Amino acid sequence: MSDLETVIGLEVHAQLKTESKIFCACSTRFGDEPNTNTCPICTGMPGVLPVLNKRALEFAVKMALALDCRVNSRSIFARKNYFYPDLPKGYQMSQYESPLAEHGHITVMVRDVSRDIGITRIHMEEDAGKSIHSPSEGVSYVDLNRTGVPLLEIVSEPDMRSPQEASAYLKALRGILRYLEISDGNMEEGSFRCDANISLRRAGQSQLGTRTEIKNLNSFRHVEKALEYEIFRHSGLLQDKEAVIQETRLYDPDRAITVSMRGKEEAHDYRYFPDPDLVPVLVEEDWILRLKQELPELPTARFNRFIREYGLPAEDAQVLTSERELADFFEQCAGQYAHPKKISNWVMTEFLRELHQAGCSIRDAAIRPEHLSALVRMVDEQVISSRIAKNIFPEIFARGVDPAKLVREKELVQISDSGALEEMVDEVIRAYPEEAQKYRQGRKKLMSFFVGQVMKMSRGQANPGLVNQIFKDRLG
Ligand code: ADP
Ligand code: MG
Ligand code: ZN
Repeated sequence: MSDLETVIGLEVHAQLKTESKIFCACSTRFGDEPNTNTCPICTGMPGVLPVLNKRALEFAVKMALALDCRVNSRSIFARKNYFYPDLPKGYQMSQYESPLAEHGHITVMVRDVSRDIGITRIHMEEDAGKSIHSPSEGVSYVDLNRTGVPLLEIVSEPDMRSPQEASAYLKALRGILRYLEISDGNMEEGSFRCDANISLRRAGQSQLGTRTEIKNLNSFRHVEKALEYEIFRHSGLLQDKEAVIQETRLYDPDRAITVSMRGKEEAHDYRYFPDPDLVPVLVEEDWILRLKQELPELPTARFNRFIREYGLPAEDAQVLTSERELADFFEQCAGQYAHPKKISNWVMTEFLRELHQAGCSIRDAAIRPEHLSALVRMVDEQVISSRIAKNIFPEIFARGVDPAKLVREKELVQISDSGALEEMVDEVIRAYPEEAQKYRQGRKKLMSFFVGQVMKMSRGQANPGLVNQIFKDRLG
């Protein structure tokens, strides 16, 4: 049914990259021995008092500012009561009625169309522990290292109209978190999680349809797939004049479907109430202004500047500004050799390929921006052919060696000496008389074959432009 409109709103949980937990001094380090990063506070012993981590608050305020939110000068932590073995206190401390920030928005691009998505609220809360089920032993283990790790919850307005918009929104949020260096934003590792709410309604109708909520989606692909499945399921129900039931569902990636987890009747009643152990969170205007001034240039602004300042196509600007480190690397290269599009071509292909293969971060890579810009310059100045440049690039990348030095070491300087090139051209013409004949008769496509032979003979060192010219002179 084409007259149905999809409505999506997302709740995102991002783990904040603080050294210590949100209400105690325990380390937030990932991967340590289970239950080693715990203390009486995060394990919920009686009589202890939590204290809010100022760094967590600072990160939360930065995100709120980056999303154009109004930061409330006073917000409150509440207790969200429920029982689960990985929640030792029997409640989670979270902001409920009075969140840290509200009324923001973010612009996302979906296939060249820019869309404005409202941010309802941003609040802080603590993470729960981790249950590890071992069916073979018939037991479950609980690891409390994650208990009390600071989370930011970001709730959107129901402003998205397609699964693609939802995933573009998530990527944009993650981009900002990473630019701000306040979260890893890693969905697979669980430091960036998403619950997706979706409903359908007749086009033109202002009232929202009944929604379902899909919990714990852990990849962008799963978000899109799960939402696509829900659109299919909802529209089938609506077409058959059956009701959509408001419920929580889970996505099963193996079957690419969602299944019911719990209905409205089983929905928790969390009995929220203000936490009596924590004072209200007061945020001063001066501090907000200072944090605002400290914000780095954010992905959208940088994207626009890359197009404006470097004259790059949108696709290049998109890729290059997707990560702050990558954008920095590009700008350092372009600063040393002012041919941004040429630099961009190298960064987006050879550089990113090596980086992915090495599986390391830009910071940890041996190559420096000056190496890449020097290489691009050497190709432009015809010191080496682009073939050779590509051949030696993996070594430059891995060793971080100056390309001029490597070219000297390996004696790879491009042959532009016409005498030497003419000799090679003549040799090729002698070796392929029939092809030469055909070329003269009009098979101009054979040119690339001839040039290829000389390139092979010269082990890639011949200047292909000159070789081409000499062939033309010789073969008429
Ligand atoms: P909770 O899920 O905790 O009850 P809310 O009711 O505030 O929280 O909604 C959570 C998310 O669901 C928000 O992102 C909101 O935009 C979205 N949402 C609410 N109603 C609908 C709806 N009918 N269709 C699609 N999304 C919705
Ligand atoms: Mg919800
Ligand atoms: Zn602790």
